Amino acid sequence: MNGEDNCINIECLKLVNSNFQKFLDIHSTNYHIELKKSLEEIGLFFDLDRIYIYYFSKDPTFMQIECQWNRKEVRPKREFNEEEVVYALPWLIRKIKNSNDVVINSINEIPDEAVSEIEAFSKEGVKSFLIIPLKSENKLIGFIGYESLLKSIVWKEGQIRILGDISKAFSHTKARIEKEKVYEKDINGQSILLNNSESQIWALSNVTSYATANEAHAKFFGKTKSDLEYQDLYDIFDIDTANKLSKSNWELFQKGEPAEKELEIKNFKGENRLLKIKSRPQRDDKGNIQYLICTANDITEQRLAEKELYKAKEQAEAANTAKSRFLANMSHEIRTPMNGIFGFLELLQATNLSLEQKEFIREAKSASEILLHIINDILDFSKIEAKKLTMEKIKFNLRNSIEDAVSLLAPKAAEKNLELYTMINPNVPEEVIGDPSRLRQVLNNLISNAVKFTSKGEISVKVDCLKEENKIAFLNFEVKDTGIGIRKEHINTIFKSFSQADASTTRKYGGTGLGLAISSELVKMMGGKIQVESIVGEGSTFKFDVKLKIVKGASVQKFDFEKLRGMNVLVVDDNDNNRKIVVSYLQETGLMVFEAKNAAAAITTIISKANTKNKINTAIIDYQMTDMSAYELATTLKTMPFAKDVKLILLASVNQKGETKSSKEYGFSCYLGKPVKRDDLLNCIAMVLGLKKEDEEKCEVVTKHIVREVKNELKPKILLVEDNVMNRKIVINILKLHDMTCDVAVNGSEALKAVSEKDYDVVFMDCQMPVMDGYECTAKIRILEGDKKHTTIIAMTANAMEGDSEKCIEAGMDAYISKPINFDTMFKMIEANTKKRELVPDYNKIIDDNIDCFVETTGLEKADAREILEEYTRCLPDLLADINRAIDDKDFDKLAGVTHELKGSSGTLRIMSIHELAIKLEAAAFKHEEDECGRLFAEIKALFY
Ligand code: ADP
Repeated sequence: MNGEDNCINIECLKLVNSNFQKFLDIHSTNYHIELKKSLEEIGLFFDLDRIYIYYFSKDPTFMQIECQWNRKEVRPKREFNEEEVVYALPWLIRKIKNSNDVVINSINEIPDEAVSEIEAFSKEGVKSFLIIPLKSENKLIGFIGYESLLKSIVWKEGQIRILGDISKAFSHTKARIEKEKVYEKDINGQSILLNNSESQIWALSNVTSYATANEAHAKFFGKTKSDLEYQDLYDIFDIDTANKLSKSNWELFQKGEPAEKELEIKNFKGENRLLKIKSRPQRDDKGNIQYLICTANDITEQRLAEKELYKAKEQAEAANTAKSRFLANMSHEIRTPMNGIFGFLELLQATNLSLEQKEFIREAKSASEILLHIINDILDFSKIEAKKLTMEKIKFNLRNSIEDAVSLLAPKAAEKNLELYTMINPNVPEEVIGDPSRLRQVLNNLISNAVKFTSKGEISVKVDCLKEENKIAFLNFEVKDTGIGIRKEHINTIFKSFSQADASTTRKYGGTGLGLAISSELVKMMGGKIQVESIVGEGSTFKFDVKLKIVKGASVQKFDFEKLRGMNVLVVDDNDNNRKIVVSYLQETGLMVFEAKNAAAAITTIISKANTKNKINTAIIDYQMTDMSAYELATTLKTMPFAKDVKLILLASVNQKGETKSSKEYGFSCYLGKPVKRDDLLNCIAMVLGLKKEDEEKCEVVTKHIVREVKNELKPKILLVEDNVMNRKIVINILKLHDMTCDVAVNGSEALKAVSEKDYDVVFMDCQMPVMDGYECTAKIRILEGDKKHTTIIAMTANAMEGDSEKCIEAGMDAYISKPINFDTMFKMIEANTKKRELVPDYNKIIDDNIDCFVETTGLEKADAREILEEYTRCLPDLLADINRAIDDKDFDKLAGVTHELKGSSGTLRIMSIHELAIKLEAAAFKHEEDECGRLFAEIKALFY
């Protein structure tokens, strides 16, 4: 390097130094002015004519002059500062991109290939130029051009290096300023957010000191942001506010983790406002809390609104409770007189009436039943509306429940000559947990609709278990009819409340339109859905599914099927479905089952199998068949040598009353009502084949009436606890109609006394009574009995709202009958609870009942009279046994003789009850009236129990 270079260098170093220093921390606002000054300084220093800096745009195919300087007499590089296309100077740009300085001492040095550049620079009259690439972090961001127009320059190496160094100061500064701009933009953005936020935001450096706060927080206290920043609470606020804030801050700091609290504090207007504060600690590297960042929202209005809402909700709930209570009361009020109507109609029916009067009563009863049904529907619907309807979870026999529901409608179906059959798939679990009465209610509704809307054909009820999962049975029910069907457009609406397929149907068929709406809700509550498929004129199929818990290890069979193995049964029925059902029930058991479609086929089958191992033991015969009636078939069979020993079972519709008696005359061993219940059928077969004794419990199947007679002989001991005279009268009289009596208590306290003195089979307990109500009375009875005894107590109440049955059960009662009383249910309960006690005749009863009359008519001393009567009662058992034997042996002479003896002794002793019956019995014996003799003897026996 020569001296000139050195001299340049010293000056240059100064120039470089001053530029570096200047741009080191230059603020963006001065950047352009200072840059321009620097370019001028450099231009003058190196005796140049023009300097310009280009930076590439965001789109790198464009560039733009950032700053330019030119000597006064020289034109600026560009008149307008606008974007230019990079590839206008392709050769130059290529060079720059390769990080090369472009050093041109004379324009002739530009290579020929740089056509555009030669033209551009020549046009501008540039004689020499130096272009240096500008980089930031190794990335090309632009270039700086140094030009001489007035004279040619030979660019020296030192000069180029110095200009290169200065260029670096420019590019670094540009990069720094760009970054700062972005950062500032960011900061600005955040401060816009912070200061315009509705939420209050602040940071605390300790319990009483702010680090910073946003405008919203400052404004709340009527301050500015700078009033709060780095200040102590006690220096800014009044003592109360400062105390409150520091206490709240202290609590939040204490938590040491994100926390929340509400704080009531005065704002700048002195109004108490409720702030919901959320805090989050910000920790330093060592884990110490550096700041507590807080945000807060004013929830004063929101809280007020919540309070209002709560009040409104409370009011609504109160209204709802009032509605429910009203419903409960109304239901009680309506049910009480309904009980009277039902009861007295029932009693009236048993009196001597003309045919017309009987018909009127039948109509009145049917109208009251409809009314009760409507009341129940409305009540259920209100319960669903008020979300008060709950499902019970009790163990029950599913098959029995389904069969009971179907049986209930069997008389109506039979009245319309409709076949009604049930098909319960063997995979359906026997014992389940759920709400049997609600399940029955749904089935009831669907079946009664099917009966209502079908005039001919059949109704089938099918139940299937789709799958079992975790001890839950997924059951599918199907009720299919061949009735009027439902139009497509009505299918979706019939499940809505009060909706019926159309108005005209309503008028023709009646109904409230609530049944399906209730059923659909009930099914939903049982975990399923109800659906319908229907074709107008062909019929409808309602399907629903429910989920029920299977009872673990429930015993399925009621008796040993093994006993039936090897027996051959013939099912005779012209209705394919009915026959198939009976066959399917039998096939589960190991019985060999044969089918006959008509009487002729039955006869052929019996004869052809007579001398084979498949000899028919039992034939189950449908009452009505096209070719021959069941009675005709039975008569024919009895005349045939091979067939006369076949035991016959009659299948008849429930309303074919009186069949029990005549069926026996035609040689049937047993009669079963349709639709057939599987267990009844099996029990019946076992019984007629002699595999089961008739007097076993299950022989109830033969007919309901026989069962009741048997039970009556057991003389159930009933206590009726009822304060209402009308209700008492009804129950007493209904019991009397069935040859039963009961003791009566008019309140709980009387009942308590009665139960402690006598052993009752069943106590019917009213709930609401003066002195002591039914709940209290039951609870006391349970305490009294302890573990030693358990008297069956059945609530009889007009309350039918949710919780009533629970209340009864909680009080210790065993079951619940709602009023108006369903007497069938009442008798079923009596039957189920009457203990089978050894019937010990009580002859002393005769003495107690007759001694006064005997003393009075004979003038005897009471003690003597007792002795005579005791002697008489000692002889009585033998006398009665003789009469019994004579009746059994049909030995009427002997019967007349012993009865005569009874007549004489009872007459002498003035025991008129026995005496009068003995006279009648003697007369009947003379006339050889076997049935009458049996009946009268039963009456005599009854006097001792
Ligand atoms: P209700 O029978 O008391 O009118 P439901 O809710 O039980 O009320 O039934 C609503 C309507 O659905 C009935 O009025 C009838 O139009 C139609 N419907 C229900 N079941 C059947 C059916 N099995 N066949 C034809 N229509 C039916």
